[in-house]
Amino acid sequence: MVVLKDLDFGGFITINGHSYRHCMYNIEKNMLCAEPVKLNKKAEEIEYSSKFKCPFCGSVNHDAWELSDEGETYCGSCGSDLEYESVVTVEYNIRPKKCSPITQM
Ligand SMILES: [Zn+2]
Repeated sequence: MVVLKDLDFGGFITINGHSYRHCMYNIEKNMLCAEPVKLNKKAEEIEYSSKFKCPFCGSVNHDAWELSDEGETYCGSCGSDLEYESVVTVEYNIRPKKCSPITQM
């Protein structure tokens, strides 16, 4: 963990080619804490993912099921703006109930 002073909260920091995301701001000590993250500056759309993953920092939003079907939100970890739509897939459970009559010849 890296400790920095006098920076606004929310976003990334790169130091010597290494990326960090802001993770905590201590108002009392006027201190911003950051933790290492793999920042993807050229983030692309993630399609048909079972997890709501931030294309910028890779953080997974475990509360994504609370979101509406589509819209805009932000990453709770790095603060990046995100646009999304939920894709619903349908699966079936099939139980045998009654077989059609069988005629034996
Ligand atoms: Zn993120």
